[in-house]
Amino acid sequence: MTISLPMCSVDFMDTSLSPEEEVISNRITELKQQLGDDLLILGHHYQRDSIVMHADFLGDSFMLSQKAADSSAKFIVFCGVHFMAESADILTDDEQVVILPNLRAGCSMADMANLADVTRCWNEILENTDLDDPINREDPDLPAPKNENYLIPVTYMNSSAALKSFVGEHGGIVCTSSNAEGILNWAFERAGKNGKVLFFPDQHLGRNTGLAMGIPIEQMTTWTPGEKKNKQDWAHINDSKLILWHGFCSVHKRFTVEQIDEFRNENPDGIVVVHPECPRETVDASDTNGSTQFIRNFVQQQPSGSSIAIGTEINMVARLAKEHPDKKIECLDDKICPCSTMYMIHPAYLMDVLERITEGEIPNQIKVTKDVQNGSLLALERMLSIKK
Ligand code: SF4
Repeated sequence: MTISLPMCSVDFMDTSLSPEEEVISNRITELKQQLGDDLLILGHHYQRDSIVMHADFLGDSFMLSQKAADSSAKFIVFCGVHFMAESADILTDDEQVVILPNLRAGCSMADMANLADVTRCWNEILENTDLDDPINREDPDLPAPKNENYLIPVTYMNSSAALKSFVGEHGGIVCTSSNAEGILNWAFERAGKNGKVLFFPDQHLGRNTGLAMGIPIEQMTTWTPGEKKNKQDWAHINDSKLILWHGFCSVHKRFTVEQIDEFRNENPDGIVVVHPECPRETVDASDTNGSTQFIRNFVQQQPSGSSIAIGTEINMVARLAKEHPDKKIECLDDKICPCSTMYMIHPAYLMDVLERITEGEIPNQIKVTKDVQNGSLLALERMLSIKK
């Protein structure tokens, strides 16, 4: 069967399946029944409805990583993007197999930070400040720390396993948008009085969380790899508490203050809720901000008849609008596309991997190598041990 994948011009409110999609959906249901308890399907909130309807759990990356960790299923099919499937592989047993239905489903934000650039940044900061690598505190064979002020690396869940491993090996931790504040508090406690946090890859989540914690904007700096630093730049880095990698989410970057003003003009009593991956100005102009789970709970709590504009991925907004017909729910950007990589998980790919599993194949396995596994597991387990 030839499947033509739709582009951005999709009516997200129309969830009726075409005859072709109906056939695929019925086959997925049959295959799921056939695989029974051996199979767990995880679906991120940004997936399309025709995928979500087959997910055993729907959630954000934090919740789904916990579901993967708790599961004993033999095959975990992750309907999300590459870094999520990697995290699931790190957290599950060696015998469990994590599968990504389409191997091209990556994340443009995660791709903005690679191990070579982050390592270069790390070394440059340690050479040009009086900070220590936390590894010196933990390993008695290394030189004693200079002055108990450390550089603590924190990586957003949206990053490669190699970066999670780097973070784990250097006394750092992983965060998600639902626990970023608690994680940064943990990191600053370990950094010491004059220590710093290097946060990657999303500058906006780091900046918005830092501001919410009361860190002045003057004590934050953005690190762009390859940019030559002069004396003044190093003075600013030395005065900063939070060093933010330059990365961003191409979906959340699109939400603007102008869109909020327009919505408020048309809906004077309307409420605006956005994701913290949006730029600072957009977050400041909104009524509130938080992770996908926070947004879901927030919408649920609003009274009937509320007008709510949401600044996050369109599949999730459209689903919330359907779940709450008593509220007027819209996306802040009326021209928004879905996250193009999340959208690469088409039901035809899900059907295909399930079909191949039942035939004894292991298709599209995401396997994190052993050398990367240990450090990244440490960083993820540190995160999972901290209450939000
Ligand atoms: S929404 Fe943004 S951060 Fe999330 S997967 Fe898509 S590009 Fe990456």
